[in-house]
Amino acid sequence: MGCGGSSSDSQALVSAAQRNITLTCGPSDQRSSYMKPLNVSRIISVVIDPAFSEAEITEIKAAIHTWNEATHARLNRVLFQVVNGVSVVDSTLPTGPLDCNYVGSSDTFTIRKVTSSDLWHAFGLQDKLNGANNPAATFRCSNQFVTKQIVMVHIQSPAPTLLQAVILHELGHTLGLDHSCDLSKGGGKKDFLSCEGLRWDDLYLQSVMNPEVNPTGVKADGTKTYRTELSDNDLERARCIMDLSL
Ligand SMILES: [Zn+2]
Repeated sequence: MGCGGSSSDSQALVSAAQRNITLTCGPSDQRSSYMKPLNVSRIISVVIDPAFSEAEITEIKAAIHTWNEATHARLNRVLFQVVNGVSVVDSTLPTGPLDCNYVGSSDTFTIRKVTSSDLWHAFGLQDKLNGANNPAATFRCSNQFVTKQIVMVHIQSPAPTLLQAVILHELGHTLGLDHSCDLSKGGGKKDFLSCEGLRWDDLYLQSVMNPEVNPTGVKADGTKTYRTELSDNDLERARCIMDLSL
């Protein structure tokens, strides 16, 4: 990418067969870039793990606000409301990537802070020690729609706006958006274009749903900054997947 460090994330579903769905909506080379939809006919409650710092919670709320503002302006829909004062108890947490027996519902999900590398690895995720980096992941259970899901975050000392950018991206996954292009090795199909070979300024790489979270700038003090706005492509795809529940 020529931008220095990059990060990728991953998601897991109940089974691979349920992972992708195809819509006849949006760009033709993204028609299989969707997962089972979140039913947004009701406002979705988001519980933010109190283990996040105040500064981190501010970034998370900024990401939620960005989705709400954009979808309200463009799609006449507010998606998320933050639920305060709810502690995250073990019964609402999956024990592994395929666990769908935890307590949850289709109209609430938790954004959980994970500090343990061992726990992160147990979910099949990597941290920077392994050369790859999964800063966050959304684990989803579904039938026709999502039945429960959780966003898990494992970032130590995030750079400015990095956590916000990562949450923006994961919120896209909670809606049912897969990546804007296919990162899997040997991947890429007519209806789910590979990320390989795209120019750095391609709209799919300039979207929040780019599988890699890349810096968009460097401040005078040397710290990197990250994407905090949804692209037209993010919103076009959001409209496509939301239409299934509205
Ligand atoms: Zn992702």
